[in-house]
Amino acid sequence: MTNFEEMGFTPGILKAIQELGFENPMPVQEKVIPLMLGGEADIIALAQTGTGKTAAFGLPLVQATDTEINNTQALILCPTRELCMQITGDLTDYARFTGKLKILAIYGGASIDNQMRGLKKGVHIIVATPGRLIDLIGRRAANLSSVTTVILDEADEMLNMGFLDSINEILEEVPDGRRTLLFSATMSKEITSIARKYMDNPVEITIGTKNSSADNVSHAYYLIHAKDKYKVLKRIADFEPDIYGIVFCRTRKETQEVASKLIDDGYNADALHGDLSQMQRDAVMQKFRVKNLQLLVATDVAARGLDVDDLTHIINYSLPDDTEVYTHRSGRTGRAGKTGISISLVHLRERHNLQQIERMVKKPFKAIPIPTGTEICGKQLFHWLKKLENVSTDHQEIEKFLPEIKEKLAGLDREELLKRVVSLQFDRFLDDYRNGEDIIDTVSDRENSFERSGRRGKREEYPGNYTRLFINLGKSDGFYPEQLIELVNTNTKGKKVPIGKIDLLKTFSFFEVESSYADDLIGALSNATFMDRRVAVEIAQEKTDKPRTGEYSGKRPAKWSDRRPEKRSQGRSENKSRNYKRDSRFGKKDKKKNYNH
Ligand code: AMP
Repeated sequence: MTNFEEMGFTPGILKAIQELGFENPMPVQEKVIPLMLGGEADIIALAQTGTGKTAAFGLPLVQATDTEINNTQALILCPTRELCMQITGDLTDYARFTGKLKILAIYGGASIDNQMRGLKKGVHIIVATPGRLIDLIGRRAANLSSVTTVILDEADEMLNMGFLDSINEILEEVPDGRRTLLFSATMSKEITSIARKYMDNPVEITIGTKNSSADNVSHAYYLIHAKDKYKVLKRIADFEPDIYGIVFCRTRKETQEVASKLIDDGYNADALHGDLSQMQRDAVMQKFRVKNLQLLVATDVAARGLDVDDLTHIINYSLPDDTEVYTHRSGRTGRAGKTGISISLVHLRERHNLQQIERMVKKPFKAIPIPTGTEICGKQLFHWLKKLENVSTDHQEIEKFLPEIKEKLAGLDREELLKRVVSLQFDRFLDDYRNGEDIIDTVSDRENSFERSGRRGKREEYPGNYTRLFINLGKSDGFYPEQLIELVNTNTKGKKVPIGKIDLLKTFSFFEVESSYADDLIGALSNATFMDRRVAVEIAQEKTDKPRTGEYSGKRPAKWSDRRPEKRSQGRSENKSRNYKRDSRFGKKDKKKNYNH
């Protein structure tokens, strides 16, 4: 490993590095700095935020800037106002002991007049968001004709935000022969096309794996019912007393709702979304940065500018539609050498999205069990005991009250006293989890095999056999996986019945159940109703004349007959030519046999 001293930095820059406390270059710095200091090559660096990329381009850029010349020599484009301010702040730190470097941040939502005045005085480096810079170029306030270095930071984010045209327009203003550096967390067709158009034989550097999340981020998920999402979120927070994380939601409304509920329930949380004013957003971000908040509930757009290094958790309360957004979310943890976890709350209908994300991230996603009430209470208790052990009792103010305290508590022996103190402290948890009611996660053994195989479809690896059942309810009845699970749970009194694949059709459906539960479940559902309709369940048949067991025993049968009995209750139309066959087991039970006649 090279150290900063060997890289060719001037004493002023080395002093700044030392002041910042950087001991050794981070991997992206080891690769980018020598290229920047030692040649003219264009560079594409695939690196996440948090890998040290600002210093990778910033330190050599500051060193290379001639402060004796009063014109703009470098342009840094980045997606958000917050990143813009952060880069400007970092560059100012790097330049602390070198000449009078003038750096100007240009971004929307702030006074354009001030920025115009700043530009008029002359600046060496402009750090800008594309929209506002276009505006200033249009007003002839920004002059890019002497720019020799262009840096596109978080290029993929800029493209996601629709800045492609602006970037093209800006790059047309910068003279040919400049050096261009492009930093991006992911590589896409659009990035490649920008590179092709504006870069000259770029050297490509990858930190970590292309298009994959940072190495020290692990990925986990809870497969749950949609209605349990909030409860599960609370459990995560309760189980991790030192949590410091972002909870990502899909919409502003959802963000506000989740944050308000958390606040009402006594959590140290707040919301960050686009319905807040810039001032409110700045205040929330600042509270979060200084760790006055443990949980920030945010939309992807609002959280873009936030740069915090030591997040312990990313919680995907809602999965993003765009798989790349997941990479950005999860890349916010596991930074600067620390480890982190990205947890997704996934309901049954979203499993497909999760698989897509897993494929892109190229890392296994672990199905994890929801912490039980007992586990949470235990964890909280030990966390509190640790704090109790370490608490400083060196307060003279307390001494004054000790005799009175002793007198008041004289009637309580040590055990009783301990019990009372703990009860006081744990009221909320004990109340919440008193009844030992645990959320039924739908992660059965079968779901865990998703984790092992890394993808669905490898059915052979599922433990146990599954039996495919027919049920006389379908999507047109408002019957979806959630309703099926609810129906099963209600009629099996919360017994964890491992449910497998669910195939919903319009007026009827099929689902798999672990074979040892099949008979009991058919029995349990025989008297059940759904929306005032009598439920009918029976073992589905293979469309084959071979003798059948109805069991799914490792290999998927050639084709399941997705058919329904000849007659349906409630007089719906039937296709009588369908040769639905009943299983003999089912036929034995008269009550069930006649359900639909
Ligand atoms: P960035 O990816 O530029 O946002 O940097 C992530 C964090 O790493 C920032 O807080 C930097 O201050 C910090 N950092 C950058 N380079 C180093 C280094 N060589 N050693 C330690 N920390 C660093």
